[in-house]
Amino acid sequence: MKMPKEMRIYCPSCRKHTGHNVEKVKRGRASSLNWIVRQKKRRSGIGNAGKFSKVPGGDKPTKKVFLRYKCVVCKKSHQRRGFRVSKLELVE
Ligand SMILES: [Zn+2]
Repeated sequence: MKMPKEMRIYCPSCRKHTGHNVEKVKRGRASSLNWIVRQKKRRSGIGNAGKFSKVPGGDKPTKKVFLRYKCVVCKKSHQRRGFRVSKLELVE
């Protein structure tokens, strides 16, 4: 999917349609639950790994992307609901 870098959408701060710069929101790092990592490591030898023997569900074919819209008038940014797309390009 291709998205324009600049869009004319509604700004909640200005309460009208203004130009917005579109920016991809960077994904936060995956939470490292340290105790569960240690627990997994302890059972990673030979034999049954208990609940860690389960086959992981695997990745979904698409990833959810979140976009941040920065208003060029008031310089405030807001976000819309994220949506699922396999590939997102920001084009001029
Ligand atoms: Zn604005």
